[in-house]
Amino acid sequence: MPKVAEKEGKYVYRVKKHGEMKTDAVILSDWETIDEEAIQQIINVATLPGIVKEAYAMPDIHWGYGFPIGGVAAFDVEDGIISPGGVGFDINCGVRMLVVDGPASIVKGRLDELVKRIYELVPVGVGETSDLKFSKKDFKRIVTGGAKVVVEMGYGQPEDLERIEDYGSIEYCDFSDVSDEAYDRGKDELGTLGAGNHFIEIQEVVEVYDPEIAKVFGVAPGSITVLIHTGSRGFGHQIATDYIRYMRDELKEHNKGLPDKQLINAPFKHSLGQAYYSAMNCAANYAFANRQIITHMIRKAFKSVCGLNVKLVYDVAHNIAKVEEYQIDGKTTKVIVHRKGATRAFGPGNPKLPALFRETGQPVIIPGSMGTASYLLVGTKKAEEWTFGSTAHGAGRTLGRREATRELSADRIINELKEKGVKLMAKSKKGIVEEAPEAYKNVDKVVQIVDELGISRKVAKCVPLGVIKG
Ligand code: 5GP
Ligand code: MN
Ligand code: MN
Repeated sequence: MPKVAEKEGKYVYRVKKHGEMKTDAVILSDWETIDEEAIQQIINVATLPGIVKEAYAMPDIHWGYGFPIGGVAAFDVEDGIISPGGVGFDINCGVRMLVVDGPASIVKGRLDELVKRIYELVPVGVGETSDLKFSKKDFKRIVTGGAKVVVEMGYGQPEDLERIEDYGSIEYCDFSDVSDEAYDRGKDELGTLGAGNHFIEIQEVVEVYDPEIAKVFGVAPGSITVLIHTGSRGFGHQIATDYIRYMRDELKEHNKGLPDKQLINAPFKHSLGQAYYSAMNCAANYAFANRQIITHMIRKAFKSVCGLNVKLVYDVAHNIAKVEEYQIDGKTTKVIVHRKGATRAFGPGNPKLPALFRETGQPVIIPGSMGTASYLLVGTKKAEEWTFGSTAHGAGRTLGRREATRELSADRIINELKEKGVKLMAKSKKGIVEEAPEAYKNVDKVVQIVDELGISRKVAKCVPLGVIKG
C-alpha cells in the first residue's frame, strides 16, 4: 500500500489531501489486486479544478487514459472542468441485459444454432460495418434523439425506453459540435458490436438474492438472460480524439501544469467544455441506439431459432459525464459527475427513475468475464449520499492486454470454456487471450465489496452459456 493511503474501514482506504490535491481520494477496495499506477491516477484526478467532496475509486479500478477505469469524480458546474479522459474513448460504453420469455430448456437445446444466428446478424470485430444504411438526416436524428428514434424506425418497442438509463435519450446535444470525421467513422457502424472487450453473452440465472426486486426487474431462478456490452464505436472514439486535440490546441494556458497531460480538460462553462459535453451526448445517444438495434437483431434470432420473445431488463452507461445535483456541505450543488468504468446506481425514490423502479432503485449490471459469473444488482440511497450515485462496472482488468497475450494461450482458454459447457464464437484468437477470464479480477469479490459497502445490492447471479466476442 502506498504510504499515503490509510485504512479507514473494511474496504475503505483514504488518501488525505496533500500536495496539489484539492480533495481526498477514497479507494473502495480490499487492496489485494490494487494497481499502484491507477491509485496515482485517482490522486491526480483530485488535483483538478472544481472537484468537490472526494474522488472515488471502485473495487474494479485499473489503469486508464488519464483517469483510472473504475473512477468517479464530480466537478462544480460553476468553476469545475469536464475532461474527455474522465469519460473514456468509448463514450457511453455500457451494458444492456435482456431476459427471454420462455423456458431455459428450449434455449439450451438450440444453443449452438442460436449463437450462430446472432453472430450472423450482428457484425462483430474491429471496424466492422453494418448493412443498415441511414441517411445523414436520420443519422442526425439518431444521435440527437437516441434509442427512441430507432424504436420509431421499428427497432424495438416503446416499452423498452423506460428500461434504459435516461430513457435512452440525452437532451443537451447539437450535431454541429460533431466533426465530419466522427460522422464518417460512425455512419456505417450503428448496430455493430466492435472488438475485444465487447460481447454478447447468453446466460442463465443461477441464484437470486432478492426475489421481490428480481421480480420487478423481470428475472427469476432459471431465467435466460442476454448481456450486450458495446458503446459508441468509431463515432465516440473520434469525438474523444477531436476534443482532446481541440483542448490541447485552444486551452494551453488553462492546461499548463497538469500532473499528467492525459488529464486534458476544459472549464465546463467554457464554450469548448460545452461543445465537448454536447458532442459527448451525441455519442451517448449513438450508443443507446446501437444497443437498441443489436437488441432487435437478438430478438430476431430468438424468434426464428426458438420461437421466443425477449424483453429488456435494463441498459446502463458506464463511460459518461452527467449534470446531477447533490447535497455537499449542506448545500444543493450542481455538478458534472464523471463515471469512467463506473455505473450509475440510483436508489429508491429517485425522481430520475421511471415509476417502474421508483420503489426498488435502478437495476445495475456488473459483468465478470466470459468464463465467470455476472451480476444484476440494485442502486441505493447510500450510493447517492456517498459516491455520487455510483458503483463498480465490471470485474476490472488485472492483466494488461499485452501481458495477457504474452502469458496465456487461446487454445487452452477455448478448451476450458468447452469443458465448462460455454459455447464461444470469437472473431480472433488475439481477442480470446486478451479477454481470458484470468485477465480479469474476481468479479464475485468486486460484487461482494460493493454490496457490503451498500453502494449497490446483489439481486441475481448469472453464468454464461454462450459468448460472442469481437
Ligand atoms: P470495460 O468496459 O471496462 O472494457 O469492461 C467491462 C467489464 O466487462 C470488464 O471489467 C469485465 O469484468 C467484463 N467482461 C469483459 N469481457 C466479458 C465477457 O466476455 N463476458 C462477461 N460476462 N463479462 C466480460
Ligand atoms: Mn465497457
Ligand atoms: Mn467499450
